[in-house]
Amino acid sequence: MQTQLTKIIATVKDDCPIDKVIQLYNAWVDVIRINFTHATPESSQKLLEEINKSNKQGYTHLSILLDTKGPDIRTGIRKEPLQVKKNQIFNIYIDETKITKNSDIFCDYAGILKDVKPGQEIIIDSWLLLVEVKEIKKDHLIVKALNDAEIWSKRHINLPWVKVSLPAMIEKDRTDILFWIKMWISYVAASFIRTWENVREIRNFLDKNWWKHVKIISKIENKEALENLEDIVKKSDWIMVARWDLGIEMPIYELPVYQKKILDMCFQYGKPVIIATELMKSMVNNPFPTRAEVSDVYNSVIMRADAVMLSDETAIGKYPIKAVQYMEKIVGEAEKTTTNKHKDFDIQTTDESEILKKALSRYALMLADEIHAKAVVAFSYSWNLARYLSALKPNIPVISFTEDFETHYSMGINFGVFSKKIRKFSKHMSEDQEIAIEALKEEKMIKKWDQIIIIWVRLYNWIRQPQIRVVPIV
Ligand code: PEP
Repeated sequence: MQTQLTKIIATVKDDCPIDKVIQLYNAWVDVIRINFTHATPESSQKLLEEINKSNKQGYTHLSILLDTKGPDIRTGIRKEPLQVKKNQIFNIYIDETKITKNSDIFCDYAGILKDVKPGQEIIIDSWLLLVEVKEIKKDHLIVKALNDAEIWSKRHINLPWVKVSLPAMIEKDRTDILFWIKMWISYVAASFIRTWENVREIRNFLDKNWWKHVKIISKIENKEALENLEDIVKKSDWIMVARWDLGIEMPIYELPVYQKKILDMCFQYGKPVIIATELMKSMVNNPFPTRAEVSDVYNSVIMRADAVMLSDETAIGKYPIKAVQYMEKIVGEAEKTTTNKHKDFDIQTTDESEILKKALSRYALMLADEIHAKAVVAFSYSWNLARYLSALKPNIPVISFTEDFETHYSMGINFGVFSKKIRKFSKHMSEDQEIAIEALKEEKMIKKWDQIIIIWVRLYNWIRQPQIRVVPIV
């Protein structure tokens, strides 16, 4: 049984062999991510079926997180690179067929003509080329290069100084999500979210397709999302600090400032937060991380991120298992030096039953710290109780027992929470308690004379009956 509280997410390619996924799991991975910028339903079906099968057979307990392509803006396909010199004037066309000169490029977002103004700057290929808008024509922009550059096919275009009028999802996202629903995935990571209305649109799409339980992770990766951060956090289930794209939208030295702001906003609303991208980047090629990377992972834990995410390190890197093992060791060291004060994480809620769960959770955790309990056990029908226990940042593992299959697999990213499936809750609390104790003993999490805390909120005869119990192990 894992006892590290901070969760690890590993990205894999759609053709990843299941053996590698199982090795990643054994090295301490909680969640498997596939990026659908590159994957398709056809290319990923086999792997998703294999993960589900491996979970069912008990080889793994992995949640699956699938990441949408989202409405990004890109240049077109080129046979040769665009070679530009500083001060060179060239055109950006919104209709590929209009391009006649090799020195012009295509932009796949037609709205760019309406959104930008003369004098504004456009970032191409992650700051490799910065251009200034000179004139706006009917079907193209005339721009001036502000530096020398060589630009290949399908490069990112960023407009951080502009409010773009892109939709929340592109057609590919809808097709992919409909496929994911069939594959029983737990999390949809939504790329390029800019407003809370974007989150609502995805939620409505999921609800309409009878997939209410899936959790939406809003990826914060542009300036506009930062401007609307509070509303996005309120509306989302999870947040990801998508540091690659976010680092393009601002001077890179401002990135840690915004990372901290996003974390603080998430704590305020009790929303789990993932720190993503380049945490162990050098391990794509090297068998050990750099000093700076070790500090980055350490600091992510100290800052109380719920999860840390590996991208290329596990998807295409030469040392995927080692990267996870290093990450797990750093997380372990960081957690040894961190004591969470549950009072610091005051989650805003006005709903009476939520206030009750929050208060129970907080006191259970405070009691656990004071009596040096080994674990907190929660019995949940929904994921709410476990969600509060997680958001209040436990210092010991929270074992959440649930009857519900979907809830069981949607705890993967929750800080400190480990889910256990129970076939059916008994009418008698003492019977469930015995099952929980046996399971914890089996996992060697508890031994004789230890104490655990058990917490539950049950409805008996339509009356909510919350309880906290201190249980000595005999
Ligand atoms: C990021 O930009 O950091 C990120 C996680 O998104 P993607 O991997 O889709 O670029």
